Amino acid sequence: MINKITVLGFPRIGEKRELKTALENYWKGIISLNELHSVSTELRVRHWKLQHDSGIDQVAINDFSLYDNMLDLMVTIGAEPDRFSDITDPTQRYFTMARGDVTHTALEMTKWFNTNYHYLVPELHSAFSFGKINSAKIINEYNEAKANGYEGRIQLIGPITFLALSKCSEEVRAHLFDSLLNQYATLLEMLQSLGTDIIIHEPSLVCDPMPNDLSLVKIAYDKLGRFGKIWVATYFEHSNEATAVLVNTPIYGLVLDFVHGDKNHTSLELLSKSDKHVVIGIINGRNVWKNDLHNSLTTLTTIASTIPKERLSLGISCSLLHVPYSLKHENTLRAEVKGLLSFAEEKLAELSTLSQAFFTGQPLSVEFTDTTRSDEAVQKRLMNLTQNDYKRSYPFTLRQEAAHDLFDLPILPTTTIGSFPQTAEIRKTRQEFKKGIITKEQYEIAMKEAIKQCVAFQESVDIDVLVHGEFERNDMVEYFGEQLSGFAFSSNGWVQSYGSRCVKPPLLYGDVSRTKPMTVEWSVFAQSLTERPMKGMLTGPVTILNWSFVRDDQPKAITATQIALAIRDEVDDLQRAGVKMIQVDEAAFKEGYPLRCKDRAAYEKWALESFLLSTAVAERDTQIHTHMCYSEFTDIIKTIEAMDADVISIETSRSGNRLLKIFAAVAYAQEVGPGVYDIHSPRVPSVEEMEKQIHELLEVLPAEQLWINPDCGLKTRGWSETESSLKNMVKATKAVRATF
Ligand code: GLN
Ligand code: ZN
Repeated sequence: MINKITVLGFPRIGEKRELKTALENYWKGIISLNELHSVSTELRVRHWKLQHDSGIDQVAINDFSLYDNMLDLMVTIGAEPDRFSDITDPTQRYFTMARGDVTHTALEMTKWFNTNYHYLVPELHSAFSFGKINSAKIINEYNEAKANGYEGRIQLIGPITFLALSKCSEEVRAHLFDSLLNQYATLLEMLQSLGTDIIIHEPSLVCDPMPNDLSLVKIAYDKLGRFGKIWVATYFEHSNEATAVLVNTPIYGLVLDFVHGDKNHTSLELLSKSDKHVVIGIINGRNVWKNDLHNSLTTLTTIASTIPKERLSLGISCSLLHVPYSLKHENTLRAEVKGLLSFAEEKLAELSTLSQAFFTGQPLSVEFTDTTRSDEAVQKRLMNLTQNDYKRSYPFTLRQEAAHDLFDLPILPTTTIGSFPQTAEIRKTRQEFKKGIITKEQYEIAMKEAIKQCVAFQESVDIDVLVHGEFERNDMVEYFGEQLSGFAFSSNGWVQSYGSRCVKPPLLYGDVSRTKPMTVEWSVFAQSLTERPMKGMLTGPVTILNWSFVRDDQPKAITATQIALAIRDEVDDLQRAGVKMIQVDEAAFKEGYPLRCKDRAAYEKWALESFLLSTAVAERDTQIHTHMCYSEFTDIIKTIEAMDADVISIETSRSGNRLLKIFAAVAYAQEVGPGVYDIHSPRVPSVEEMEKQIHELLEVLPAEQLWINPDCGLKTRGWSETESSLKNMVKATKAVRATF
């Protein structure tokens, strides 16, 4: 079968995270650059072989990266920021751009569209001029594949996406457009001599286009489409507006996502009338569940009734970067869960089976796993929900009165976002308990000791509202997932998050319910140690959902409702046990936002309802806190208001009081705790610095409405800087209070 399957990329970290190990050892000076390169080569060749053995005759080339593809692109097209030019060694410069050093702050990092992968953000400015093209990485990888007997297609992030994701103004974007295209043209001309297909990734074409965007697409691909066999790939949504433009450019074909961009179907007619070849992204590259091959075959057959099969080939909806490697090392998963799963390697096999069936008519033989995913009691409970379950019994003003009576806090109350430093000892204790090396009793004694010290510390610093420290939690989602039914955990299901970092998202496969209280014992113990209010600490339903691999056999809204009910029960148990301040973290609330504006209202509706359902059980004198990580709040402020939390803390320190302004602009009524210092650095901010920061916050919101806290994530810090910083924070707060 020739050219009938296309992959946009394979995970590169290694099935045993070999690249992670090699990178970290290289950074520590334990291995040499040559050794790092030989690990990389081994991984690339192994991944090409895998693709080839699955029947893919053109493997993905240049999907590999030592840190990030966007960073590689900056090197390739001469777009390294000038501020690193004093570093002459290219490898040292590469890793410094990624990780920073004493004299250079690293490039900013942010999420790749709505995935959990983070890319490095290019920095452009009006005086910027592109440097020399450097095609060595691409050509070397191409030759390496060739030497090992593999033909391949070169993967390259495109100019539209590069510009859209760069940090610069619209003017700079417009100003640099032509010279950027010239860079790409030079590069493609060099690559043309290889005589192979080039797949240009343009995922930003799935976002709602601005008026001028489409004419730039036309200019770009009229120019670039001429350099051999050029494909344009879009993913994560439909790209109908761009497709309509691209069919009138000289490109060879398009790669479209029919999993997350079902609406791409409306472009089929247009595509059929053009001469373009089309790769149908039909297997989900973002999720871990087995594909319903019969269903896919039906979709393909429909497509083939419009576009002739000769012009079609099949693919994964996006790069496989976003899924774990292989099921072959999963020895602890229950068979009924394992039977539902398909990781990268298995997805290639699915694609191959589907391709055989579609192109050669081979019958599909699919094994079926009989797994119980539904729980009658859970479903009944969902059916019996009423409007009242989503609404707190008292309005905010009355709740606030009750809180003033009950807690009697000073003005500008101080608190933290939940976690405290996770020392090596704490981690070791948790692991030993998990492995059965220490008993439950020993474990509890150790954790309670940590809580005791943490509470004593907070009292000694004179923080007003305390937390227990989250020492029993490895991760804010995993901790809850492990105790809820409906979740499973892989032992090796790692997915690259950035650089050498990976995450292992829980597998949310079945109906969710809570079998027993999850946090009550820890919180009640912590509260018993102090007269001051102790915040119960929960992760919200939307965040649990957004950071898991979520079942795709029912709408996310239903799954979110189930999780919300489990959290609701926990909120209720906490308040009954006397924990009267409860924080329900929605760190990832913004992350789930759909890429297209049109779909956002639907997401907001169920996300909001899930949060309300999980918290509305709180009585009048139970104060509900929530927390959101750094994000633009402007477009979601109405939803935040509707969440009706008594207090929201937000990660803001790096933006001064900028993010807070929207809360004032909409006359937000509830209380807000903007982070007053950045915890992502070990630097201890001075008292004066934080006083200044607090005064800036007071320019935006009145003192009666403000809480004082650091940004989130103290668990990643050491004790010494945490101690000094919090001491300074409290001192600064007291100094400001004294001015009233
Ligand atoms: N309560 C969590 C903590 O402080 C919140 C983490 C987060 O915002 N990502 O660590
Ligand atoms: Zn946060």
